[in-house]
Amino acid sequence: MPKPITHWKDGATFDGVSGRWADVTNPATGQVSGRVALAGAEDAQAVISSARAASRAWAETSLARRTQVVFAFRELLDRRKDELAQLITAEHGKVHSDALGEIARGQEVVEFACGISHLLKGSHTENASTGVDVHSKRVPLGVVGIISPFNFPAMVPMWFFPIAIAAGNAVVLKPSEKDPSAAVWIAGLWKEAGLPDGVFNVLQGDKVAVDALLRSPDVAAISFVGSTPVAEHVYEVAGRHGKRVQALGGAKNHMVVLPDADLDLAADAAVSAGYGSAGERCMAISVLVAVDPVGDELVARIAARTRTLVVGDGSRAASEASAAREADLGPLITEAHRTRVAGLVASGEAAGAELVIDGRQLRPRGDSAGFWLGPTLFDHVGPEMDIYTEEIFGPVLSVVRVASYAEAVALINANEYGNGTAIFTRDGGAARRFERDVQVGMIGVNVPIPVPVASYSFGGWKRSLFGDTHAHGSEGVHFFTRAKVVTTRWVDPADRSGGGLELGFPRNV
Ligand code: NAD
Repeated sequence: MPKPITHWKDGATFDGVSGRWADVTNPATGQVSGRVALAGAEDAQAVISSARAASRAWAETSLARRTQVVFAFRELLDRRKDELAQLITAEHGKVHSDALGEIARGQEVVEFACGISHLLKGSHTENASTGVDVHSKRVPLGVVGIISPFNFPAMVPMWFFPIAIAAGNAVVLKPSEKDPSAAVWIAGLWKEAGLPDGVFNVLQGDKVAVDALLRSPDVAAISFVGSTPVAEHVYEVAGRHGKRVQALGGAKNHMVVLPDADLDLAADAAVSAGYGSAGERCMAISVLVAVDPVGDELVARIAARTRTLVVGDGSRAASEASAAREADLGPLITEAHRTRVAGLVASGEAAGAELVIDGRQLRPRGDSAGFWLGPTLFDHVGPEMDIYTEEIFGPVLSVVRVASYAEAVALINANEYGNGTAIFTRDGGAARRFERDVQVGMIGVNVPIPVPVASYSFGGWKRSLFGDTHAHGSEGVHFFTRAKVVTTRWVDPADRSGGGLELGFPRNV
């Protein structure tokens, strides 16, 4: 019997009244494991109202108390992360160690938020004008909406909610309907950590739930992560409804390998960053730019490593059942997505790219009826081909060969996305030049997935991010607070001068 996965409001599960439900599937087995509630407008309003009712008291709770609750959440998460990782693997399909990795990166933001008091300090100027003092402060926004994609059901929400909550906001999280259980588990953990009911809520659903959040006058800001067309829709609609918005979109990340690079390091990095999590990462490497004459040798080393990868059910139970090591990568998220990725592989072949390794015929370890597609490697890919222009979001690595560094940079800068990129070289000067030349938000030097640590901010350029604020770090604190400046005059009891009528515009003297 599939388990029901419901909304969460007022500190408890909530079925909603829409009567709409969607199946949740284990991608490694193809079996339906749950049914998730899909909110209607009335359900969305009920969940948003829970947040609204709690937001005032939470904003007025002392910073010391708020950060103590965040700290308690961090301790519980650290202790019980294995449970969360199992839920993620069962609905997303990524292998257990990878699920633990995403939790660890989310936990970094929780740890950052424990120290938010330093970043919420205002400034004060005494006697800015005669007898007048000025101080500034940053105050919470109220209710904030977080809309997240399927590929990081724990980490992406954690880019936002620890900071939003520590800063004094109430949260409505709308997770992906494909892997919705992690959000409800997190809600339970917040309750255990002592967060007052209503400060953290979960709204399950699809476009109906998203559009309700974007239009609600009770929601002050939206943090969205997902595909570019939906990010653009979210940015426009939420903006039109007067909200602060950050909408992170899709990606096509290039890794440049210069002829002087350590080729073993580069091949390891390309395979790990191209095929980890079955390529379903916004920071995955999907294009390898091989600068002449490095192509033949690099492709040979990548192909040799790729052939050693184990694809299979990544749940801890599966790896315990098998005497062999844990699988390196799991299945794709849905049958429809697997069909799309297989179609793109066919289109690359038809367009004349050289298919070095074809993952479409893969039989996974255990041979289960999941949504399998093995690591796939293309060489001699042209920038006009669909496999180059489309975000594939699967385990498909495309090698583009270029004659020079300048050609590599031109390729990256002509791409519509600008999320992440990397360069592999032993030449510090070339790496420094690259850092300045590329129009991309996050850059790695001999690091293939340059996701910034929590104290810096995460975000791409161009059509990888709509809005001007990146996630977490000081930009995250800025996003979830707004400024007030207070100008104060207290009359000195020993000197009561300074009164009298003055209708001219007040000057500072
Ligand atoms: P998606 O855009 O399909 O869904 C994201 C969220 O939007 C989900 O909660 C979903 O329910 C909702 N949604 C879907 N269609 C909608 C619509 N028409 N109107 C309103 N809401 C809608 O994305 P996904 O398939 O879940 O995730 C993969 C995408 O996310 C990839 O493009 C990936 O690059 C991107 N992503 C980007 C980053 C980043 O940091 N830039 C991080 C992770 C994922």
